[in-house]
Amino acid sequence: MSYLLSCPNCGVREVTDFGYGGEIASRPMERPSFRELNAYNYFRRNVAGVQREWWFHRSGCRAWFVAERDTRTNEVHWTALPDEAPAPEPSAQVPAGNTGGEATLA
Ligand SMILES: [Zn+2]
Repeated sequence: MSYLLSCPNCGVREVTDFGYGGEIASRPMERPSFRELNAYNYFRRNVAGVQREWWFHRSGCRAWFVAERDTRTNEVHWTALPDEAPAPEPSAQVPAGNTGGEATLA
């Protein structure tokens, strides 16, 4: 399914102009445990709903930027350069050291 995405530098383009960089994850603390590092590298929230994501304007200015998109409808709420992105809502923030909770390592 194709949809439109707005590059903060170039404006609205087909999504095929862009590369998907994945959902934005909180970096672990300064000296993360093995578990925290594994969770950061390999586990994704995979939200059915609104999430913040990295995108790359592959066929244009080649800038990385942040988008907030509803994964159910592909409706893009906004896009911004990383320095200009609005602060996440407190309910959407993952506390430092939270590895996702549900995932367990055997
Ligand atoms: Zn661009």
